[in-house]
Amino acid sequence: MKTWFREYTISTKKGSEVVDVTDKVLAAVRDSGIKNGMALVLLPHATATLVLNEDEGGLKQDLLDRLEQLVPQRGNYQHDRIDDNAHAHLKSALFGSIPVLPIVDGRLVRGTWQNFLLIEEDGPRNRRLVVFAMGE
Ligand code: ZN
Repeated sequence: MKTWFREYTISTKKGSEVVDVTDKVLAAVRDSGIKNGMALVLLPHATATLVLNEDEGGLKQDLLDRLEQLVPQRGNYQHDRIDDNAHAHLKSALFGSIPVLPIVDGRLVRGTWQNFLLIEEDGPRNRRLVVFAMGE
């Protein structure tokens, strides 16, 4: 069995935004040369997260708006006493995921509208995006 690892740096531009990183994930899987196996996609951060969903402008704004509604940037948060970004941690904790998807015949199996969306909540920053693939 072969294992393969790639890390990208994604520079976010705003305090809060959604960035489609699907091209990078697909390139990593392609370059791995793995035909059948699985890929794990990790955003190793506590104030940004990854979701699988549609890259559509209105929906991306809906995601940010609804997150802000659930966890407003300003609130009575304990963590803000030391770091002033509790809202970003809470949003990430509520919505974070570490997608693991099958690779079949060299292609990542995912839904038509499942793009890899990085949700930034404490930017702008440089974020790491890790793709780990294993298989034959
Ligand atoms: Zn913090």
